[in-house]
Amino acid sequence: MCNILYEGKSKIVCKGRDESTLLIRYKDTATAFNGEKKAELSGKGVLNAAISNLIYAYLEENGVKTHLVEVVDDTSVIAKKAEIIMVEVIVRNVAAGGFSKKYGVPEGSELKNIVLEFCLKSDDLGDPMINESQITAIGLATDEELGYMAGQALKINELLRSLFEKAGIRLIDFKLEFGRSGGEVILCDEISPDSCRLWDAETNKKLDKDRFRRDLGDVLDGYRDVLARLKNVR
Ligand code: 5GP
Repeated sequence: MCNILYEGKSKIVCKGRDESTLLIRYKDTATAFNGEKKAELSGKGVLNAAISNLIYAYLEENGVKTHLVEVVDDTSVIAKKAEIIMVEVIVRNVAAGGFSKKYGVPEGSELKNIVLEFCLKSDDLGDPMINESQITAIGLATDEELGYMAGQALKINELLRSLFEKAGIRLIDFKLEFGRSGGEVILCDEISPDSCRLWDAETNKKLDKDRFRRDLGDVLDGYRDVLARLKNVR
């Protein structure tokens, strides 16, 4: 077992090899609605680790700086230690989920432009949306950091859309987290079906965590499908 520093909803963070790294282990736990719905899905950790590692390697190859240093085993990676910026960055290509509910836009509606949202990363407050002047006012991030995160989020969106398109998958929306490490801002956390909405390009079948949130059944079948298709195009 590793030397646990922190246990989150879907990952365990342990001491790394040295002071500048952490070991992050993906868990099988699935949660939704701020932890109100919870289940153990055997094999989810392995699937999310594989999907996120493949995506982070692809992003690195395309010039995105991430926390990923090395894959240790099928559920664990070594990552750069970073001070997490407590702002979640959400990118939306198609209306769904919280956006559809909040603004009364039917799920699946095309959007005239890409939507970028910021949310305060706080389980206690339910991750409320927060605007740029509010973020800088309370010192969560500087203007420069916000501009950088927004630019990276749009670049990552373009890269991921192209990757998923080759895999026959529509990238509907996703969430990113960034951190400060060694004087720069880097992409942290994970990109997986837990943090993205992914629909089959032909049938619009959901292949992501909405299967768990909405009791659509066979949650991990969707995740396995995503991994198999990504492996085919990488
Ligand atoms: P929504 O705001 O519609 O609930 O979420 C938008 C996108 O961001 C979805 O792909 C959703 O999975 C992701 N997302 C938003 N908040 C969180 C969060 O706290 N954790 C995870 N894993 N994903 C999130």
